[in-house]
Amino acid sequence: MRDIDGHTRIYGLFGFPVEHSLSPAMHNEAFEKMGINALYLPFRVAPERLEEAVSSLRALAIAGVNVTIPHKERVCVLVDDLAAEARLIGAVNTIVNRQEKLTGHNTDCSGFMASLTGDLGFDPRGKRILVLGAGGACRAVATGLCLGRAAWIGIADGDMAKARRLARFFSGQFEGTQIASLLCDPQALAALLPTIDLLVNATPVGMRGESFVGHDWRLLPLSAAVYDLVYSPHSTPLVRTLRAMGYRAVDGLGMLAAQGEEAFNLWTGKRPPPGLMKMRLEKLIRGG
Ligand code: NAP
Repeated sequence: MRDIDGHTRIYGLFGFPVEHSLSPAMHNEAFEKMGINALYLPFRVAPERLEEAVSSLRALAIAGVNVTIPHKERVCVLVDDLAAEARLIGAVNTIVNRQEKLTGHNTDCSGFMASLTGDLGFDPRGKRILVLGAGGACRAVATGLCLGRAAWIGIADGDMAKARRLARFFSGQFEGTQIASLLCDPQALAALLPTIDLLVNATPVGMRGESFVGHDWRLLPLSAAVYDLVYSPHSTPLVRTLRAMGYRAVDGLGMLAAQGEEAFNLWTGKRPPPGLMKMRLEKLIRGG
């Protein structure tokens, strides 16, 4: 345990629950390795206490927090200012406290893009991309892909109305990227799969080891790549299945590390040594 004194800066995570979070381990590892006198703590914040918790950042001079499920959207109206990407996405996953002024950022978007390039070697410019899931993570992913000048993004969800709402939201925001909404159903997607350059899973499918049912992924061209936002100790069923078929596929551990690196940089003005956070995560969940 490091020395804690009157100068120790406090960072943390607001979520409900937070017990499963890997963020304390990766941030504390970086503080320690970089000799920064700071500590990252998990705070279990019930939805009805979120407003109080955000105010406490000012009262207790907590220097910054990450924000996770279920608070990412509601916290937008509780901070003093929103950075451009958080405003676009409509969700905050990182708060910076500077002299009691709270700014909300979203590093899921830049984290996804960093991992897409670094871990999968994929450049979305001019590409056709199918995103499964129309929730909060899809908003961050689609924003990154639009900023990266993807040619076409299909948003597929089990709830067609949800996919349509999100597609409509994005259609007005970005020039140069066509957005479509689709039902995430094997039959509805079958005709599309042969035209796709990148498949992204932004649903929770795979978190408990479960697979998508009924989709024939062999319809994807062999040049297609796969990014699964979900991560698990032995990678996800989607990643394992598609790798076995010869596709390039990665899970979301790289995104988790990259969004953490971006948040760390916003808080401290410094970048952790490349790979440090990812290695800590690998060790934690894969024993690697
Ligand atoms: P969310 O807001 O609950 O959205 C998930 C969406 O997927 C919902 O619209 C849901 O519809 C839909 N869905 C669920 N099962 C489906 C299926 N079988 N077929 C089609 N659509 C389905 O969750 P989120 O915050 O976007 O997160 C999604 C996943 O990404 C989570 O597993 C999360 O852990 C992961 N994630 C990873 C990172 C990372 O750093 N690697 C970052 C963010 C999120 P219903 O609401 O109707 O069920």
